[in-house]
Amino acid sequence: MKAIAVVPKSREVQLIDHPEPRISSSTGVKLRMLEAGVCGTDREICAFDYGTPPAGSEHLVIGHESLGEVVEVGREVSRVKVGDLVIPMVRRPCHHEGCLACRSDRQDFCYTGDFTERGIKMQHGFMTGFVVDDQKYMNVVPRQLRDVAILVEPLTIAEKAIKQIWQVQQRLPWACPIETKAGRGRCHRAVVLGAGPVGLLGAMALAAGGFTVYVYSREAAPNPKSDLVESLGAQYVSAQDTSVEQLAEKVGNIDVVYEATGASSVSFEMLKIIGVNAIFVFTGVPGRKKPIEVDTDLIMRDMVLKNQVVFGTVNAGRETFEDAITDLGVFMERWPAATRSLITGRNPMSAYRDLLLGAPKGIKETITLS
Ligand SMILES: [Zn+2]
Ligand SMILES: [Zn+2]
Repeated sequence: MKAIAVVPKSREVQLIDHPEPRISSSTGVKLRMLEAGVCGTDREICAFDYGTPPAGSEHLVIGHESLGEVVEVGREVSRVKVGDLVIPMVRRPCHHEGCLACRSDRQDFCYTGDFTERGIKMQHGFMTGFVVDDQKYMNVVPRQLRDVAILVEPLTIAEKAIKQIWQVQQRLPWACPIETKAGRGRCHRAVVLGAGPVGLLGAMALAAGGFTVYVYSREAAPNPKSDLVESLGAQYVSAQDTSVEQLAEKVGNIDVVYEATGASSVSFEMLKIIGVNAIFVFTGVPGRKKPIEVDTDLIMRDMVLKNQVVFGTVNAGRETFEDAITDLGVFMERWPAATRSLITGRNPMSAYRDLLLGAPKGIKETITLS
């Protein structure tokens, strides 16, 4: 079967022939891969910033955002059945007895760093014809979400962040009075930094949760992303004509910041203007650039005097995948056109060079695998 792979040793990105995997355990599941999403991580692996092949292999099959269909199951499989559409999880636990996270099936919080990740770190990924994996890493998606299901994996980033926001904020009176259908976040104002797929999905998840949402991004408005943001009932604010200080005046008390740019300078600018009892979540991974000046006295003073919290989040556990599947169903009910418009191109496998090595285009580009 064909697979898109990198060979770090010779710095090549290739369409290769890869042996078709077979079920080798009673809880194994074989998937016919339908689609894979392309993201910044894939592009960075193809630029050889990271990406490690499995032990004993020169190449790494890439792809971690995926959708597959179950075609065969081992004899003890009970979580999925043949014909189910599933999203496989990405991270696999480390083998250290003492890793509290991995031993509790929460490898997204792995202590040792010796976890593996399909399509990223020491395990082949999903940009190929067939994949075999254990049933415990499979999440079933309803068939009516087939067209947009590829968004589940990138949406898990926002879902894990929002779950933790609610957990952390339980330490203070933060619950909005009187629960209504408007969502439990309806008395809070959230700013999303960045309008890429992770930012836009975060804006949708926050809006679906009732938050008043502002998306702050570089590009001047109007543009397709600002139109999409407005169609959610959220506001798009361009950094070209509005400084972070002006943004703060516009929003009022900024209760939540969901960072999805990977740009540290604008993030630390934002950190200076967040509100009382605010919570700031980092999801981006910046490249290493020259150090910049940060007003540490102001930030530290505010963090203390305004009871602020800053945290970072990576990867996702099973519950978060389930939340993402549920929320994607909500998005499709409330904003079907906007949700579909996040997928800006479906490409054949043969277009891999352009997609992975060319200039980024669109919002979420996918590769059709079968
Ligand atoms: Zn990704
Ligand atoms: Zn671990």
